Amino acid sequence: MSDLQTMVLPTQLFLAGKYAEASDGKTATVYDPSTNQPLAAVAMASKTDVDRAAIAARKAFDEGPWPKMSPYERGRMIQKIADGIRRRSEEIARVEALNGGKPITNARGEVLSAAMVFDYYAGAMEKFFGESIPMGDKIVDFTLREPVGVVCQIVPWNFPFLAAAWKVAPALATGCAVIVKPASYTPLTALFLGEIGNEAGVPEGVVNILPGPGSEIGGYMAAHPLIDKIAFTGATTTGAEILKLSADMIKRISLELGGKSPNIIFADADVQKAATAAVKAGFGNAGQSCSARTRVFVARPAHDEFVQAFIGATEKYRMGHPLDESTEMGPLITPSQWERVKRYVDIGRSEGARLACGGQRPRAFPEGNFFAPTIFTEVSNGMRIAQEEIFGPVVVVIPYSTEEEVIRLANANDYGLNASIWTRDIGKALRVAKGLRTGMVSINGHSSASRHGIFAPFGGYKKSGFGRELSMHALQLYTEVKNVFIDLAD
Ligand code: NDP
Repeated sequence: MSDLQTMVLPTQLFLAGKYAEASDGKTATVYDPSTNQPLAAVAMASKTDVDRAAIAARKAFDEGPWPKMSPYERGRMIQKIADGIRRRSEEIARVEALNGGKPITNARGEVLSAAMVFDYYAGAMEKFFGESIPMGDKIVDFTLREPVGVVCQIVPWNFPFLAAAWKVAPALATGCAVIVKPASYTPLTALFLGEIGNEAGVPEGVVNILPGPGSEIGGYMAAHPLIDKIAFTGATTTGAEILKLSADMIKRISLELGGKSPNIIFADADVQKAATAAVKAGFGNAGQSCSARTRVFVARPAHDEFVQAFIGATEKYRMGHPLDESTEMGPLITPSQWERVKRYVDIGRSEGARLACGGQRPRAFPEGNFFAPTIFTEVSNGMRIAQEEIFGPVVVVIPYSTEEEVIRLANANDYGLNASIWTRDIGKALRVAKGLRTGMVSINGHSSASRHGIFAPFGGYKKSGFGRELSMHALQLYTEVKNVFIDLAD
């Protein structure tokens, strides 16, 4: 089924405006998770390559035209990147589907969303105003927003192209130079951004893409004296390590980390609609999403109806090969991720939860990393399967009695990324939305399943990280505030 043989894949580092081998010649094989067959050998950056990229980016930022251009001029090039992504969208989507195990229809949606993110920031900077601070007749005081400098952007494997776009587009808009480090499992699609940036006229050294082992070069990047900021998406433990390693440099950091997001169903909700939507919210991207609504809290009077409808809709969710147009859920990223999910299923059983469906490899898929969408019922909030991020297609259902109780249960978790509430009572919806300690809340829907989600701030409370990506908020991540005070007295 693979059609990558007919494509020219980017497999080198993208450094200072051109492709380059790793300085020590190292490569790593990337795989198709639906078969675990190799797809390509990709150059892996060493610390020397991090130095090369940091020097190139530093030069582009300190001496080049990029940060000095008017926001409008930079915006025109960012718009051309958006157009370039659209021109090559099918190619990028196919690579993303094969390397990330994503259904092709989802991969197409993500690539087009990435183009929209560049559209947004192409026109954003002229609208990102400073302040004028009143100090009386004899003083003028105002603020400037200046680019933070050279930014290292560490990207995960679950949304390889889209997550890179979320980071690169606002950073470029502000005038920063970037070094993107894609995840080692899925480095291919981010590399397209280097080429597309060149075609758009972005000056050399402004965009550098460095596939490489996070465990070896990630820490080096975090402590690197030529890098001003780290923007990271990935595991909470890795985020904590980056914080520690970057502390001595007082580096700017933003972290988008894990989640265990609640999906709260009240008895007065459209229970059938909530049950159908819970499938994509929990099992979209095979559950490998930080926003996955993996803890479903259902009011006791609606519990049985919800569970029956949820299981019914889940059993119809179509697993298949990523390039099959009808596929709704593909494989997990690696055999080790498969093993991790299986371990959690075993933990759930041993904790006394009831396995209502899934829990294993589906019979129709004897190879690859396919794992059936899995629902546990009779779960209590203290169980490990209800508390820990599994990052696979496992959703737990927990019954509750009162509004106060469900707010308490939903908040009793280390993470605080996303949440959904289903009710027809607007007062109740807003009371619960205000009560939840999460960075995002959706009411009667799931923002992460909507195209419009990219226009709103994205990020978490608690161990889900800090800093907000997307929207005008992301521009704050990539700028410093400078205050200018003018004394008008003679
Ligand atoms: P990681 O946090 O290890 O990987 C995310 C990115 O960080 C990758 O680019 C990785 O590079 C890089 N990285 C790894 N180690 C370091 C380091 N010491 N310093 C700097 N960067 C580093 O996540 P995993 O891929 O190991 O996934 C494990 C778990 O993390 C998942 O099961 C899930 O729970 C969570 N996760 C959450 C994501 C989210 O969207 N919030 C995304 C991905 C994972 P490399 O690929 O080379 O290791």
